[in-house]
Amino acid sequence: MITCYDIGGSFIRSGALVATGTVSESERIETPRHDWEEFVMAVRNAAAPGTSRISISLAGAYDERTGIADVANIPCLHGREVQKELSAALGLPVAIINDANAFALAEAVDGTGRGKPVVFGIILGSGVGGGLVINGELVTGFGGIAGEWGHGPIIDPTAGGTLSGVDRYTCGCGLVGCVDAVGSARGMERIHASLHGVKISSREITHHWHLGAKDAGDTVDAFTTLVSRALSGLVNTIGPHVIPVSGGLSNDEKLLGLIDRKTRDLVLAHYQDPLIVRGAFAANGGLQGAGIFALKTFGSEAQ
Ligand SMILES: [Zn+2]
Repeated sequence: MITCYDIGGSFIRSGALVATGTVSESERIETPRHDWEEFVMAVRNAAAPGTSRISISLAGAYDERTGIADVANIPCLHGREVQKELSAALGLPVAIINDANAFALAEAVDGTGRGKPVVFGIILGSGVGGGLVINGELVTGFGGIAGEWGHGPIIDPTAGGTLSGVDRYTCGCGLVGCVDAVGSARGMERIHASLHGVKISSREITHHWHLGAKDAGDTVDAFTTLVSRALSGLVNTIGPHVIPVSGGLSNDEKLLGLIDRKTRDLVLAHYQDPLIVRGAFAANGGLQGAGIFALKTFGSEAQ
């Protein structure tokens, strides 16, 4: 039996991998964020009876070379060799995949990218992330960074510090002007504050936009322009057949439609169908991706 987990800063979701290759979610508990022993206990308690292997989708960066996790929102994991230490504590083989990679893998194998050679799954939520799958195989690249399109400054400080009238911000990675700092839900809120001097949530901004408010419309216009520009270079580089989206902002179809149209206008290839779409696993890609990753890591006989 393989138990799969989707571990985020707020919740741990878990369930057993069933014969069809899908994960049947059975538990949702709050993530113990500060105490390692408590964290290990929570993972152990959530394991299905007869569990012999564990597969985890983890919200955060995970360096494949060093095994060190960079999980800012779960401090008790930060800086640990999570895979090795968790495996030793539980006495079970453990596989770990980054959550954006898990989502991309789920989409490529069973979702919107099924049968498509190049799938770039992106997350537009509290942060910006992504994962690249080519011919059904996850591409992790040097240091495991492949797919991390949210970092690297797109707003050039030497060009007056703004793009579409938007200020540049320091990103969590330490650079200034990253896509992550403006292309996430928090980024949309920063753009709105920057343009209009008002602090409201991304949900309120998109709601006002749907109602036709001009200030919210300006914010969404700047936001979608920034995101589309960042995506356009990526699309020209990797030639994705589809870009499924997950994360809180993926719930807004109108917003995704606008990003899709703007991005397709900026790229060299002529995509006739929508390229950027809500993922089939937008709500549960971590768990489903952990299941697929388990089969790839442990083999199907491990079930
Ligand atoms: Zn950054």
